[in-house]
Amino acid sequence: MKNNQQRMVWALEVCERSRMRPTPIRQKILEFLADRRVPTSLEVVMREGVQGKCSETTAYRTLMLLKELQIIRQVSFPKKTSYFVLNIPGESSHFLVCQSCREVTELPVSESARELDREISASRGYSQIYHDLEFFGICPACQKQPARARCPNAPLSNPLVSKTQTVTNGVKY
Ligand SMILES: [Zn+2]
Repeated sequence: MKNNQQRMVWALEVCERSRMRPTPIRQKILEFLADRRVPTSLEVVMREGVQGKCSETTAYRTLMLLKELQIIRQVSFPKKTSYFVLNIPGESSHFLVCQSCREVTELPVSESARELDREISASRGYSQIYHDLEFFGICPACQKQPARARCPNAPLSNPLVSKTQTVTNGVKY
């Protein structure tokens, strides 16, 4: 498994091979993603990665370009929020996602999961096999919140989702 510095070196090598000029913003975004093993949303990239040094459109376009070059990959979690992670070959990832606060943490990849990658690679003749696996739940901190605040069907920023809707969805707390 690569450390953060090796992950950045790998990313810059792919940029060079793809003849992509590493502008300061591209470099900043790559450095930020190289330091984080968990998928990161555009919002967090903006806030903590580029710290407002470019527009959201520029950051999004940069992410899309890096995705096109397969330097990063997009992980889609529920609620239509896209997350981005460095696409290191052979680096499969398992993530644990809190449906309430959307915190994403990395889980260790079991040997049986790696074995499955090897089996698929051998039987199908594919190289660079990887998989992402997401587990969802409510984190301990959110479990301590009042029931309404941790409703997994209600995005925190969506005022249109009412308590009534929660009841009609049949979710009980
Ligand atoms: Zn949580």
